[in-house]
Amino acid sequence: MSTTENSPATNFIRQIVTKDLAEKKHNKVITRFPPEPNGFLHIGHAKSICLNFGVAAENAGLCNLRFDDTNPEKESIEYVRAIEKDVHWLGFEWAELRHSSDYFEDLYGFAVQLIEKGLAYVDSLTAEQIREYRGSLTQPGKESPDRSRSIEENLDLFSRMRAGEFADGQYLLRAKIDMASSNINMRDPALYRIRRVHHQRTGDDWCIYPMYDYTHCISDAIEGITHSLCTLEFENHRPLYDWILDNIDIDCHPQQIEFARLELEYTIVSKRKLNQLVVEGHVSGWDDPRMPTLAGLRRAGFTPTAIRDFCERIGVTKKDSSIEMAVLENCIREDLNNTAARAMAVLDPLKVVIENYPDGQTEQLEASNHPQNEAMGKRIVPFTKEVYIEQDDFADVPPPKYKRLIEGGEVRLRGAYVIKCHQVIKNAAGKVVELRCTYDEKTLGKKPEGRKVKGVIHWVSATHSLDAEIRLYDRLFNVPNPSAEDDFCEALNPDSLQVITEAKVESSLADAELGSRFQFERVGYFCLDTEDSVVDKFVFNRTVTLRDTWS
Ligand code: ATP
Ligand code: MG
Repeated sequence: MSTTENSPATNFIRQIVTKDLAEKKHNKVITRFPPEPNGFLHIGHAKSICLNFGVAAENAGLCNLRFDDTNPEKESIEYVRAIEKDVHWLGFEWAELRHSSDYFEDLYGFAVQLIEKGLAYVDSLTAEQIREYRGSLTQPGKESPDRSRSIEENLDLFSRMRAGEFADGQYLLRAKIDMASSNINMRDPALYRIRRVHHQRTGDDWCIYPMYDYTHCISDAIEGITHSLCTLEFENHRPLYDWILDNIDIDCHPQQIEFARLELEYTIVSKRKLNQLVVEGHVSGWDDPRMPTLAGLRRAGFTPTAIRDFCERIGVTKKDSSIEMAVLENCIREDLNNTAARAMAVLDPLKVVIENYPDGQTEQLEASNHPQNEAMGKRIVPFTKEVYIEQDDFADVPPPKYKRLIEGGEVRLRGAYVIKCHQVIKNAAGKVVELRCTYDEKTLGKKPEGRKVKGVIHWVSATHSLDAEIRLYDRLFNVPNPSAEDDFCEALNPDSLQVITEAKVESSLADAELGSRFQFERVGYFCLDTEDSVVDKFVFNRTVTLRDTWS
């Protein structure tokens, strides 16, 4: 990673924070990560988490986790719990756990202040009229007839809104700013709406709920946030953020700074759209390993280290861009190359009978769990008369320069012996179903005498190996930017999941813990599925291939 404008040490947000601290603008940096609990976190959120928690940690500051829970109909405690779990899993600890709903009473009080100052009014326009009155990018808006309502009347109506005297949608509290502003967000934005919905924390205490823009800045100020980091789509909302804080009696005025959202090719980073995939059954759940959610990535075998590394590599800038999936995959590949234990698995088994090997004999061969890391120890790999190799490590009609097994040819079984194929047995359909071989007993850990054997293939003992289901995942969508499609579901990749039910894995995996990660030699990186593995049925998810196969 070069030290350019987007490298972690020098991104523009870190520069602002460093400067503010040097100028003693703040004693301590306080940031927050403010998800709405309306879905599971995705890889885009990871960028925001790493930035908010990272900036705080680097400067001996604090970062809060704040649930932005002002839209009760879409929010749930299940999502709250999932988000807490994911933030912890990524490796971060919040200073305080807050909820926007903690501030409902304060927010109400500040709204009363705005009304008293003549800066907010109760409006009876219908939703449709409001849209009509709002104007457009080229045309100024029109003032509501209710804009001139007296302060007394506004105070009375607002308190009756809270008391539940009106129907949902009958009234709205709006800020009185400027219907002709070139910024549509400043054209008397809504502050409160009437909505009779049960809230997961405040129950039925409230029938009016504050709007996002109104809630966010005040919540930031109450928590003493110094730098309120958000994505670029909020740039046009900053004048409103500042207007609200300038017009209520509160000491703190956080600085909103916007950065580019993470977009990742061939997937979707929007809770709303991911929710649609779950609800419509296109995936098995929020934690489907094809999902770009943290829960999905975890289940696929991604590590927190790899995701944090990814967030550093992509950097933080003001320019929108879409990141190639290969960047994320390289991060996990590098991490697993260093940390994952090696093992052997055969996905498409072909039986090999070693005719000159003693019947019933088992040799307990030793193999390193990691070729470069002795500390990871060794394991026992049993060798027997019958073994399985991959179907495609044998070629009936070998292409030029084929180095694996052919009739009459030799190959080394990794960590074991050199074998030679004498006879190919086919079924009625002409498919190769078994190979008859012999082994050279002098080749255990030694080169064969008088000849070169180039090919090395993986294998498992037919008598000791365990049955496994292996799930191979591919990109979830067929197009780099599914969000741009009219119906993104039409762009789903129908082959994003391939299930292999007859795979064989080496016996040392019998004791593997759920969620543990392996490099199946020559095959890829895999993780023992935490949800669907049961006694006697191992399910492995492919985390990533050994090499970048997309480009
Ligand atoms: P979604 O559309 O997926 O619901 P959101 O922005 O509405 O995303 P929030 O729960 O409100 O989701 O987001 C919490 C924080 O995460 C916000 O500060 C938001 O800006 C940030 N965030 C969300 N998506 C991304 C992304 N793709 N890249 C970077 N930051 C993101
Ligand atoms: Mg949102």
